Amino acid sequence: MMDGAQYVESLRRRKPRVFYKGKRLEKPYDHPAIAPHVKTASVTYQLARDPRHAELMTATSHLTGEKVSRFTHLFWSVDDLVKKIEMLRLIGQETGTCFQRCVGLDGINALWSVTFEMDRKNGSDYHARFRKFLERLQRDDLMSAGAMTDPKGDRSLPPWKQPDPDVYVHIVERRADGIVIRGAKTHITGSVNSHEILVLPTLGLPPEGADWAVACAVPIDAPGLTVVFGRQTNDERKEEEGIDCGTSFGIVGGESTLIFEDVFVPTERVFMAGEGDFAGLLVDRFAAWHRANYGGCKAGNADVLVGATALLSEIHGTIGNAVVKDKLTEMIHLVETNFAGAIGSSALAKKLPAGNWLVDPLLANAVKQNITRFVYQIARLAHDLGGGILSTMPSDADFGSSEIGGLLKKYFTGKAGSSTDDKRKLVRYIEGMTSVSTLVEALHGAGSPQAQRIVMLRQGNLPEKARLAKKVLGIGES
Ligand code: SF4
Repeated sequence: MMDGAQYVESLRRRKPRVFYKGKRLEKPYDHPAIAPHVKTASVTYQLARDPRHAELMTATSHLTGEKVSRFTHLFWSVDDLVKKIEMLRLIGQETGTCFQRCVGLDGINALWSVTFEMDRKNGSDYHARFRKFLERLQRDDLMSAGAMTDPKGDRSLPPWKQPDPDVYVHIVERRADGIVIRGAKTHITGSVNSHEILVLPTLGLPPEGADWAVACAVPIDAPGLTVVFGRQTNDERKEEEGIDCGTSFGIVGGESTLIFEDVFVPTERVFMAGEGDFAGLLVDRFAAWHRANYGGCKAGNADVLVGATALLSEIHGTIGNAVVKDKLTEMIHLVETNFAGAIGSSALAKKLPAGNWLVDPLLANAVKQNITRFVYQIARLAHDLGGGILSTMPSDADFGSSEIGGLLKKYFTGKAGSSTDDKRKLVRYIEGMTSVSTLVEALHGAGSPQAQRIVMLRQGNLPEKARLAKKVLGIGES
């Protein structure tokens, strides 16, 4: 397994085509907009090398018997799923933000299970191909990004009826030695600093949409692939690199738009090419695992946020107030409710035909639905306790000014003995982790709220509930 520095070096050896704010970046991994996210992902490597965290961060590969990063491991038991959630909370606590690597982890588990079932029905050989790819991923400890969301164009039309068929990634050519794909994927977390992009379908497809049912692995520096790194709430501040940045780990996952301009994918990297009847299953499996994750990583992030809010309350001199304590308690309650749901969905997992285990989909979707509300509620409480300073504090440059810096330090002081710089750090961290980028990621990441409601209604089994009500109430007995 690589350590953090080796991971960063392994990225620097690759030459992806990356754009940011209109310019091509020659050294993307050293650019201040991207470097914080590389640093965060590197923590997933560094912690795996720390013996204190070996049980959570590593596992024994059932493919090779070797010790591997848990980020390349298949969920081979309930214990693996519970440990994953605990691992996500741990890394969330260490970084205070999104560490990106879980999308690929859930992607490999979805591909493992669905390629197995496709082959069983159709006699294809996708599973053996994917197994070889996964062995390499484990051996070389590579980071993979899961690229699922297409731009979607006119959302009232299916992919094959779009005026521009490229608004969904699709196969434009089938060759004896592989396929050629064209289109784009948007909001792809951690993709710029991943070694491999797992292209996954975004929805189930009927026979006429077969060309859009495509899953494959594309190296980040494949010819024809362009990465456009997205803007974030704090991107100018990242380039300033001072306290105003809030955190050296960045906020959310460093999302990019990926543009595939006739990218050739050799056969050994193709894991679905036209099997639209399995595309929906792939999406549902991936979504269930990833939605449960949010009860782990967001709990870890919120642990840091609650801690920062408590520390700021101490500096404000308000921590002893019963109302402040009650609001901090409410934040803790919201965090633990999410975590409990994620652990519960893992505890009730079921074994899939391919041998890996799937979280309980109803509970997993309930977790993510709660996240879409609770992260906002937690942010609101942090805003409430932090005060107006969260949106009006003068800049780092003003605090550093020889003319006015002293005055600002005098007037922004807190409780005796506290540091104004510490206060500013806390304010900026809370500001970043409750910003638009962070909140929107919590709302739409792993699927928008309505996507969870569709699954919850399906999984909630209303007819069975009606039957129970009839039985308890004696309805329809006579
Ligand atoms: Fe992982 Fe959470 Fe980021 Fe998703 S939002 S990639 S689960 S850290």
